[in-house]
Amino acid sequence: MRARTFGAAMHAMVLDRARTPLRAAELAAPEPGRGQVLVRVRACGVCRTDLHIYDGELARPKLPLILGHQIVGTVDTRGRDAERFAIGERVGVPWLAWVDSICRYCRSGRENLCEHARFTGYDTDGGYAQFAVADEGFVFRIPDSYDDAHAAPLMCAGLVGYRSLRMTGDAERLGLYGFGSSAHIIAQVARHQGRRVFAFTRPGDVASQAFARELGAVWAGGSDIAPPEELDAAIIFAPVGELIVTALRALARGGMVVSAGIHMSDIPSFPYELLWEERQIRSVANLTRRDAEEFLELAPRVPVKTEVTSYPLDRANDALSEMRAGKLRGSAVLIPDAVPPDVVTAS
Ligand SMILES: [Zn+2]
Ligand SMILES: [Zn+2]
Repeated sequence: MRARTFGAAMHAMVLDRARTPLRAAELAAPEPGRGQVLVRVRACGVCRTDLHIYDGELARPKLPLILGHQIVGTVDTRGRDAERFAIGERVGVPWLAWVDSICRYCRSGRENLCEHARFTGYDTDGGYAQFAVADEGFVFRIPDSYDDAHAAPLMCAGLVGYRSLRMTGDAERLGLYGFGSSAHIIAQVARHQGRRVFAFTRPGDVASQAFARELGAVWAGGSDIAPPEELDAAIIFAPVGELIVTALRALARGGMVVSAGIHMSDIPSFPYELLWEERQIRSVANLTRRDAEEFLELAPRVPVKTEVTSYPLDRANDALSEMRAGKLRGSAVLIPDAVPPDVVTAS
């Protein structure tokens, strides 16, 4: 006899179609397939990408869909041949849910660009629920020094932010445009690496500017203001195309603008002289498993401290709208109902 949870009732917040509030639902907990684990969700971070999916700005989400790809939880049940984690072990589930391992991108160490990649909380149901299934090859151990809620933002804001930071090479003067969930983590890593951080917020958002200074930014101001020095690189976290041009204007020769988000408004045209002198613009897409392993090893050594606002799962709509309004300090995290569903036992 072995306890199993799948099939039991679980609470979930479901997106039925774009631009309609998530619906509180009672669903059967999913069953882990071959090589998968069933994770009891303890915390799930809310990401800007969730808002883009909600708004219908990404092409093809599964619908109905359970959003959420910054999952921290414990392994509840293992599917056939899943042996990597023990029952009860604490794990994190990120955006990258599965790759084919055989396409030209996977074979050249670029699985983040896999032609057949699947993503958590987009192609598969995610963590705005009490349980989620994940392929064990795309699940990571969570450092002990973080509690569940504070670990959740590491899983995307941290990981994709870290990949973006890596793309800036050895840039010493680093601009961060949009000081939300990702920037508040990456500012700490950048400072740890000896870089100087210049933080740009919405004009007039003095609270976020003060927050950035608390986290070690040498300068913080509105994105309508030029920084006091040229920048060697800039990372754009806000989904605002104009900021690409704004950041180009602030760059030193040879500098780079990295766009970290999955979606942004159109980029206005700009004079070629802004790009001249070997300035570059690039995007960062998704993450590789190596990014996750490296970042989860690095974060406790910095140590990265995340600032979170916790919401019960059934307030997921409020968390999304507060993120949209830019009202959050740090990261929003959903905490599923503390009451466990009935557990059925089967042989
Ligand atoms: Zn592939
Ligand atoms: Zn994300």
